[in-house]
Amino acid sequence: MFAAGIPLVSAVLSVAYPAEGQSLPAAEQTYVIGAVEACCTNMPLTVNGASTDVWRTGAFLAMVPVTPGTNTLHLACGTNRLERRFVVAEPPKPGSWKPFKPVESNDDPRLGKPAAWRTRGTLFANRVRPVPDDGDTLHYLPPQFTLRGAEVKGTDWIAVWIGGKIGFMAPATLVKTPLVPVPSADQPAPDPTACFPSAPPRGVPPSAVRILVDPGHGGVDTGARSPHGWCEKDVNLSQARAIRDALKKAGFLVLMTRDDDSFPPLYARPKLAYDEHVDAFISVHHNACRTDRNPREVRHTTTYASNERGLPLAAAVQKRIAAVLPGIKDSGAQTKSLAVCRNPAVPSCLLEVDFINLPEGEEASWDPERQKKVAEAVAQGVLDWMK
Ligand SMILES: [Zn+2]
Repeated sequence: MFAAGIPLVSAVLSVAYPAEGQSLPAAEQTYVIGAVEACCTNMPLTVNGASTDVWRTGAFLAMVPVTPGTNTLHLACGTNRLERRFVVAEPPKPGSWKPFKPVESNDDPRLGKPAAWRTRGTLFANRVRPVPDDGDTLHYLPPQFTLRGAEVKGTDWIAVWIGGKIGFMAPATLVKTPLVPVPSADQPAPDPTACFPSAPPRGVPPSAVRILVDPGHGGVDTGARSPHGWCEKDVNLSQARAIRDALKKAGFLVLMTRDDDSFPPLYARPKLAYDEHVDAFISVHHNACRTDRNPREVRHTTTYASNERGLPLAAAVQKRIAAVLPGIKDSGAQTKSLAVCRNPAVPSCLLEVDFINLPEGEEASWDPERQKKVAEAVAQGVLDWMK
């Protein structure tokens, strides 16, 4: 029973972001994305009283100012009403955050006594990092590799010495082995790329080239959301299948990290590329921007690589993709430290084809014809890379 007036929740009007009760980071504005049913696309829509355009698919995007604390959205479309409450965080107080300074010397008082440690994860879990945090990777270490290490007091991290330099590893990847002599600080890191070719496959037919295609996210990891509430993981799979088909048509041998709604763990994906000794790894994603940015203003297409080995592949593929997306800004190939692309042995890249958090991007990304065009561009890009 409603106390008075009309019901506030309407089936013909939906908001995909922000969700009811959602906590947003500190910001001055946020985007609001949602959809009205096809029967209502010509009714005027307002968000907090401001007239809002509805795209031909029923999707809409509005930018609204927000304040710290609870905010309420009022949407109206014809006689339909919808209210949505969400919470915006207080801005951080200046100077309240102090970054952890990396440990620099072998006799730093913050370190415990050096001991022998043995790796217990897989190659892609055993990461040596420049700072005790996620981010870049200095080395990947094979399982059962013994090295010099010491606890970093007051943290969960282990400082390790490789080639005379200090790095950091997560505690879950190491076990202390007290009965083993402490290895030298100058011990070199094993080279995981040793048995992999260093150049793109040249002078061979596509039938001799194996490519692993990785539809981003999956299962509980939905990725970004579009105005109709559709998940990035699903459009990634659909686009990745089109890429698989185009690569096969061009003669390549293609493997997939997933071909259903499962979630292969992040590092299982580059591990598969490594174990299968594939010639190239291509991860397929769709973009969304920070919630306080207008996706219509930031919309672009890009392909990322995380190292020198992946960059020529990313550049070749991106050039072809940009050519079939003339209405979208081409940001070129870029370098970014990404878990699935850090593979030091296999040329790896990650596509961010389009932005799905704006109505036009949502419509285009789910269009099978567009997916086919992008897929053929990827296949052509791989052929260019091999020239
Ligand atoms: Zn993604």
